Order: sequence, then structure tokens, then C-alpha cells
Amino acid sequence: MIPESTLLALVDRFDCPLYVYDSEKIRQQYDRLQNAFSYTSVKINYACKALTNINILKFIRDLGSGLDTVSIQEVKLGLRAGYKQKDIIYTPNCVSLEELELAVELGVRINIDNLSILEQFGQKYPDYPVCVRINPHIMAGGNSKIMTGHIDSKFGISIHQLPHILRIVKATNLKIEGLHMHTGSDILDPMVFVRASEILFKAAMEFKDLDYLDFGSGFKVSYKEGGEATDIEDLGDKISVAFENFCKEYGKDLTLMFEPGKYLVSESGSFLVKVNVIKQTTSTVFAGIDSGLNHLIRPMFYEAYHHISNLSNPSGKPRFYTVVGYICETDTFAVNRKIPEVREGDILRFHNAGAYCFSMASNYNSRYRPAEVFYINGESHLIRERETMEDILARQIELDIFN
Ligand SMILES: *Cc1c(COP(=O)(O)O)cnc(C)c1O
Repeated sequence: MIPESTLLALVDRFDCPLYVYDSEKIRQQYDRLQNAFSYTSVKINYACKALTNINILKFIRDLGSGLDTVSIQEVKLGLRAGYKQKDIIYTPNCVSLEELELAVELGVRINIDNLSILEQFGQKYPDYPVCVRINPHIMAGGNSKIMTGHIDSKFGISIHQLPHILRIVKATNLKIEGLHMHTGSDILDPMVFVRASEILFKAAMEFKDLDYLDFGSGFKVSYKEGGEATDIEDLGDKISVAFENFCKEYGKDLTLMFEPGKYLVSESGSFLVKVNVIKQTTSTVFAGIDSGLNHLIRPMFYEAYHHISNLSNPSGKPRFYTVVGYICETDTFAVNRKIPEVREGDILRFHNAGAYCFSMASNYNSRYRPAEVFYINGESHLIRERETMEDILARQIELDIFN
């Protein structure tokens, strides 16, 4: 854990708003997940869209992880970070065949999520083994924006279309090396994974030459003190038993894959901001900070809860605040939140700011994106500079046709 005094010192050194990531927490989460399974052939592929700084990618590679990617750019980042081709799995949705052709050129594993592309791909690259993303139609996930396995979801090929998948495989001679599912995010109950795995096991019996089954991710981590989280050890026990039984029936020991994003990096991150203004209105007390939905959009996008502490006044008398950003939109981080007395100039800390925070940041309102710091072995390293006006103008072309 990074001492709070260190966080405050980092604000002095690098200014705010500032993202800080604790490597030790990432390592702990990785080890805990790996150790939760008695089944030996478990492979973790970090879903890097959660946090894409190349140093984070390298650190997680050193832990022994593979990489789950959702764009060709993430594939390139992964290769640049030193992941081997076979350790990168590319799981896009609704991309063109051209993007998959690039993935073939780059030599990474490919996970196909619709029948049209599967057929086109099979005709063109019958010798390039692929994985198929199955939608098991399991209702799971914290809220509708992060559910991906339900009947209306755009993700994956419906389990009910299995006969069509098999027909394409037969017609094109495509080798299917893996089956994949990812049913959503913030899934608390391990039984959801067990039920979904049963569906995948049944489908897997139809494919004779599989190397792995990929159960995706969606593990819930706690965002509040005393909040609920997926019981990873319970999950590990249940899935290990089920998987071993399946492998016996299948006649081959397959690799069991997971691709956690949030689980690995969420709790490692802190987002540090300064309070610009305390504004009393007739209905509430606003704490206006030097950030907004341009830096951390999860509260507005998903109604996500992020715990907020007052780093510079931890023992202040707790009061209720509505914490808002400086963007010209309603960018409310928290309503009626009890925080030790907040004064102008105080430094607030958003917890669980590792996953889907910086990676969703933008330049809206022409604001700079924050700097990022990685804390490893007691040392703080700047891993991204704060943007400048040059970044805002970088790709703009100023025409010379104006007076
Ligand atoms: C986003 C994503 C993940 C990671 O989900 P988390 O909830 O962050 O663990 C895994 N697999 C795929 C295909 C994804 O799109």
C-alpha cells in the first residue's frame, strides 16, 4: 500500500489531477487469482483496455500474464510491451475483416464474435486457428451497461447458433482452437460462471481439436469499505472441479483462460484531485474539483461508486458534499457524500481508480489529460506526462484561408 504521505508528496511533485498506481496491489490480485485454482493449466490474460499504460502492460507481463486486446492498436501496444504473439488474444467486436487480416499479419490469437466474419475468415484463412466467442445468454453483471451475455447483447455468437458455427467450420475447414465467453462485468456470484461454463462445456464437445476454453471475466471487486466482491477462492474451487471433470470427458487437458481487467487493476489506482471551490447553494454544498468527466467518467457513465477520502484533512469533522467537476456538463462524482471537512485547496483521493478511469479519459473542454505515476518497490515513477497545449493542437491543421 502506498502511504498517504507519499500520495501527498506526489501531488507536490507532479501536481494534480494525478493518477497513481500501486504495483503491489496488482501483483497481489494476480497471485490470488492464479492460486485460487487447483487445476494447474490456468492462464490469465490481462484485459488491457482497463488500463493501457505500457509500463502497466510490461509489469503484468513480468507476472506471467498474457494479454486480452479489443483493438488492433491494443495488439500493437501488447507486442511493443514484449508479449509474445501467442500470449495475445484479440477479441474485437463488430470490426471489419481487414482488421482481422492485420491481426493475422501480426500473428496473434484471434477470437471471432459473429458468423459473417467467421465464414469470410474461414474461406480466406482456413489454416489460421481461431477462437469463437459464444454468447451463453446468461443474465449477469452489475447493470445493463456492463452486461454482455444477455439475449439482446451485441457480443458473441448465440449458443443457439451452434449448428451454424459447425456448418461454417465444416465447410471452410477452419480449425477452432478455443471457445470463449464473457458475460459481463461486476458479477458477484461464482455460480454464474459455473452455469455459463456448463453451457460452454456442452458446446465444446462439438469441437474435436480445442486447446483452451476462455471464461472471460467480470469479477466484481469492492468499491466500498465492506463492499461485496466475487469470492475468488470459491470460484476457483468450483470451476477447477467442473473443468477437470469436463477435461476427462473431453479426453484432453485443455488450458483454462480468464481475462480480468478490473480485478487486476481497479484497486491499484488512486486519482488525486484538488478542491477548487466550496459552493453553498440552497440545496447542498458543492465541492468543485480540478477534474471532471473528462478524467473519470465512470460515475456519470455507469453510476459507478468511487470512494472519496480527504487526504489533506483526514481527521476533519465529516460533512455532506456533492462532489462535482469543472466540465461544462453535469459531471457529478458523488451526491451527499460524507467526507471529512473539505476546504478549498484540499486534496481528495478517488479510490479504485485503476480500471476504466485513465483509459476512458478525453480532452473534452480542451482540458489536458492527467499525468500517471507507477509506484514500484517503494519508488514512484512518472509514466505519463501531463498533456500540454501542444497535445491539444497536435493533429489539428490550421488552414491559411482565414484573415
Ligand atoms: C472488458 C473485457 C474484459 C474485462 O472485463 P472486467 O470486468 O474488467 O474484468 C474481459 N474480456 C473482454 C472480451 C472484455 O471486453
